Amino acid sequence: MNSIFCLVDDKHVPLYRIMWVAAVPHFCGDEECQCEGLYEVRLEQDESVWASRKERDQVLAAMESWQGGPLREEDEEDGLES
Ligand SMILES: [Zn+2]
Repeated sequence: MNSIFCLVDDKHVPLYRIMWVAAVPHFCGDEECQCEGLYEVRLEQDESVWASRKERDQVLAAMESWQGGPLREEDEEDGLES
């Protein structure tokens, strides 16, 4: 279930290549723009893929479960409890 890939715009994107995910849909006012209303998913090396809202949510969910997977980083917080 925990794939390292997520599907965005018919592309399997490795989660570790994602730099950030847009919180709001793209709007630039250009009539020729193919990305209007889509959410930008920024990748390394100045690449972007464009996700529908549903895809964007799936990307975020995938990244959260990926981060919460095998590598847990809760040890610091545990140390602060007394
Ligand atoms: Zn645009």
